[in-house]
Order: sequence, then structure tokens, then C-alpha cells
Amino acid sequence: MARDPSGTVITRPWWRRLVERLPGRWLVGAPAVVAGRAVLAVTGLLVLLTAPLLVPTAADWTVVLAVAAADAALLVASLAVPWGRLGRSGPVLFPLVQMLGLAVIGVSTERVDGAYVPLFVLDFVFAGLFLPPRSAYWLLPAALPLYLLTSEQLSAQVAVRTVVMACVWVLVAELLASMSRRQRAASDRLERDARTDPLTTIGNRRDLEDRMALLVPGDSVVVCDLDHFKQLNDTRGHTFGDQVLREFGAMLTAGLRRGDYAARFGGEEFVLLLHGSGTDVAIDVVERLRGSWRELGGAATFSAGCATLDADTGAQQALVAADAAVYAAKAAGRDCTRSAEAAQGWGPRVDATTAEALFEE
Ligand code: GH3
Ligand code: MG
Ligand code: MG
Repeated sequence: MARDPSGTVITRPWWRRLVERLPGRWLVGAPAVVAGRAVLAVTGLLVLLTAPLLVPTAADWTVVLAVAAADAALLVASLAVPWGRLGRSGPVLFPLVQMLGLAVIGVSTERVDGAYVPLFVLDFVFAGLFLPPRSAYWLLPAALPLYLLTSEQLSAQVAVRTVVMACVWVLVAELLASMSRRQRAASDRLERDARTDPLTTIGNRRDLEDRMALLVPGDSVVVCDLDHFKQLNDTRGHTFGDQVLREFGAMLTAGLRRGDYAARFGGEEFVLLLHGSGTDVAIDVVERLRGSWRELGGAATFSAGCATLDADTGAQQALVAADAAVYAAKAAGRDCTRSAEAAQGWGPRVDATTAEALFEE
């Protein structure tokens, strides 16, 4: 029985369990392509399983099987199509092929006829959820003639039914599109919030952790700690302290090269990740930042420690080493930078266990 990290049993619907049993290659591709394959597969299976109930003639069977074979061929071909190059509208091919197949069955069979016309709604559900905005309107000019083809003869009732169907299709698609847009926006916002420090609006510790996993030997980790910050809070108030933290975070992000990164580690401590910068370059970068901070009239100075990853030092060990180097900078009188090599013996002993403990705090 599957459980999430908190131990709660995860119950997945039957169709989800079925999909998970599929060979992985059918699930490869953008969600629109995978869903397009599902539309074709569901249509084909439903038709094949229910057609016998309509007692088709031999000629009917020929048509039904030919359409099912064409669907299956497209399914297989979809594994080789370079969907990325076709743009976001490329997967519109799936509903078009499905509707064409249903129209062929509707026109060319005697006993099956238009029995599968309700499946057209699947295409509009697909358009609402997976195709670009307003796709349902573009699908309509293809869907209407194909739908009308499946009707025996044109009558006032057929015309009204067609108009009603078209309205329902578009309504369903637009409703789903707007719901999924809202849901996407909400989850993007949650994701952003979960990774952002609300005070300074730069990355938080969670975001830092993920970014640190991408570091490679030759990258540097810098810890910056504002000096005598408690005193600043005590003399000028917490609101002023907050403002200083905000300005410090903004100064860091404005002063770093593109691709480098700053996060608030906690309290008045910030961490910088400098890609492809050895310790010497990292110290230069920090000193440049110190100059900018002075020019801005920062109300508190800061001390910094740098450590560079190598074959033996992973990102978390480098963080602990940089943190230890901050102790050395503080002891050296604050408002300065120390490298981990120069700070050997300062602060906590650097090993993998202390590194992990720091992140589990
Ligand atoms: P040091 O130079 O040795 O680093 O001294 P310090 O006073 O900066 O260090 P200490 O760790 O003693 O105090 C850190 C202070 O940072 C204490 C805490 O009130 C303050 N602080 C932590 N988070 C915030 C915050 O979000 N806003 C404000 N205004 N202050 C904060
Ligand atoms: Mg501190
Ligand atoms: Mg401090």
C-alpha cells in the first residue's frame, strides 16, 4: 500500500493505477500528447467493446476495424513524431483524427451509424485542458461538418441539436480551460511562495537547498552575516532592522552576475552561490558587494566566509566551511571576508555529519 512521507495511505483511482502499469514509453511526451493518446485509446476500446451490441453487418465490421486500426497506427506513430517542433497546437491532430474516424463510422456503417457521436465531447474536454486558449473555437469548424455527416438527414431538429451540441462542447472546453488556468496560476503562486523569503523576496532556505544540489566542483558558497544586528534592532527598532534586511537582499541580487544566486539562510544570514568562481574570485565578488553596500549607506556592515567545492568537498560541506570562515571574519574585527582555507580551526569542525545536521535544523 503506497503511503506519503507523513504515513497517510495514498489511494489512487483505478484508472490511475491502470495508467501506471502502461509501458513507460506511452507516457513519454508533453501532457497534451499523452492525453491525446488516451483520447484515441479510450475511443478505440469503447468502440471495439460495445460495437458487438449493435450487431454490425460484415461491412460495418470492416469499417469499424479499419478505423480502430488507423487509431492504433496513429498511436504508434505518435511515439516517433517530434511534437516539440510542432508547437503547442500540434496535439490538435489527436481530436481531429478521432472525429474523422467517428464520422467515417457514422457515414459508412448501417447499424453502428452515429452511435459514437457523444465521444466528440472528449475532443473538447481535451482542447480545454491541453490545447492553447480558445482552441475549442478552432476545433468547431472541423467538428460541426463531421458531426453533421453522421446525421441521417438534415431537419430542424438536427439543426437545433447541432447548435445545442456546439454550445455544450465550447462551454465545457472553456470552463475546463478557465479552471485549469486558475489552478495552474494558484500552484505557480504556491510554488513561488514556498521558495521565497517573504521579507526580502529572495530565495529561502528550501530554494537554496535545491540550488545547492546543482553545484559542481569549482563553484563557491559564500555566507554573509550582518554585524551586530541585534544591537541595530535594539537601538533602532525591528522595523528598521527589517528594512535593512530587505535592502541587503536587494543589493545582493542586483550586484550578482546572472546565473549566480542569493538566498536568505535565516535571520541576518545570507548565502551566495557563485558558479565557476574559485575562492579568489568569490572574495573579489564579496568585496565588490561590500563596496556597493557601503555606497548605499547600509546601516550594518557584514562579515563573509567563502568555500569552494572540490572533488572532496560537497556543497553542504562547503556551506559549513563557509559558515566557519564567518567566525574567523568576526574574530578578525568584522566587516571583512575570510576563506575556508584561511579559517581552518574556526567554528564547527567541517565534516559530512555537521553538514547534514546544519540542513536538518
Ligand atoms: P554578530 O556580529 O556576531 O553576527 O552579531 P549579531 O547581533 O548580528 O548576531 P546575533 O546572532 O547575536 O543576532 C542576530 C539578530 O538578528 C538577532 C535577531 O533579533 C535579528 N534578526 C533575526 N531575524 C530577523 C528579522 O527577520 N528581522 C529583524 N529585524 N531582525 C532579525
Ligand atoms: Mg548570525
Ligand atoms: Mg550577525
